[in-house]
Amino acid sequence: MEKMIEKFYKSLGKGKIYGTKCKGCGEFAFPPKAGCKKCGAHKMKWQQISGEGTLHLYSSGNLPPMKFAKYHPYAYGCVELKEGPCFFTQIEGVDVSSVEEIEKENEKLPRKAKAKVKKMAGMNIVVFKVVKSQAKKKSKKKSKK
Ligand SMILES: [Zn+2]
Repeated sequence: MEKMIEKFYKSLGKGKIYGTKCKGCGEFAFPPKAGCKKCGAHKMKWQQISGEGTLHLYSSGNLPPMKFAKYHPYAYGCVELKEGPCFFTQIEGVDVSSVEEIEKENEKLPRKAKAKVKKMAGMNIVVFKVVKSQAKKKSKKKSKK
């Protein structure tokens, strides 16, 4: 298992994000796992994730781990990868300035998000950035009252 973690982080350093896919049933795991949670097989192969996901909910990181404290506040949420698994991580591109803003933005979810590798506290971590939806530009023009 430690070898897997090592490989995972080494790949992140190169900007590549890997998960594992079960050779038995095809179940995808992210972060990489040594065994399949679906069929119990231990034959997993490495597979790069597409990076596409859907943000389902987020909140602000109220209790960040100490080493991340200087980045506080940041958004922390649940992203469903295109490949299947849900992943909890830091979310970029959403508002965490107040509880009200967080609630408002959560109402707009789910939204598309894209994975990227970010260096934080000297570590490479996988974060997701929400994709600005350009399709439906609701008439948000500042109509002066
Ligand atoms: Zn399996």
